[in-house]
Amino acid sequence: MDQPKEEDEYGYDLFPERNKEKYKKGSITESLFTFNHKCQVMLQFALETSPYAKLLLSAMKSSGCKVFKERHFSCEDCDGTVSGGFDAASSQIVLCQNNIHQQSHMNRVVTHELIHAYDHCRAHVDWFSNFRHLACSEIRAANLSGDCSFGNEIARFNFGVKQHHQECVRARAIRSILAVRKINREEAEKIVSEVFDTCFNDHAPFGRIPHSKKDAKFAYREYKNRDQYYANL
Ligand SMILES: [Zn+2]
Repeated sequence: MDQPKEEDEYGYDLFPERNKEKYKKGSITESLFTFNHKCQVMLQFALETSPYAKLLLSAMKSSGCKVFKERHFSCEDCDGTVSGGFDAASSQIVLCQNNIHQQSHMNRVVTHELIHAYDHCRAHVDWFSNFRHLACSEIRAANLSGDCSFGNEIARFNFGVKQHHQECVRARAIRSILAVRKINREEAEKIVSEVFDTCFNDHAPFGRIPHSKKDAKFAYREYKNRDQYYANL
């Protein structure tokens, strides 16, 4: 398998095609099994060790949406360079086992999709007919998952960290919408602009933009403390 190309080329798809019949037979089946096993192992590791994932799982549990690994995650083969998706109809997170090869990438995809699942849990998100809802969750996922917190040092150097981050979030949200809805770029840009400020500033359940694993760890600890405080009342 090819190594992942540029980090920025990873697509996120809210509702990837889930056609099980596409699985090929023969020797490929064997490698698919290996991919599937590796995907499961990396998923387990992400759920147990990533502070982003742990915080989101705790927050969902508190909101009455307990997540089960076997029920709510599915490692599957996906088209193109899609990394993952959230299937609102089945409340399942799809992880693209043929496109995720590194633990750090798995952690980001799990976090990104858990933010959609969190939004799905806490709000009555109208994924299908209200593009503003979809845009808002994509902005939040790009902003809070770490998708935009790594990488292009030159861009950061040129434009400053803050502006680079915002532009990255905007661009990723637009791309995610275009990947799953038949609308043109202009429309997508307009919708993202309309909801950008509100959704960019909604940091729940992190309380801040976690720019690094360390930030996420702090956010998780704060969340735990708050939870403990309320539990004691
Ligand atoms: Zn997304």
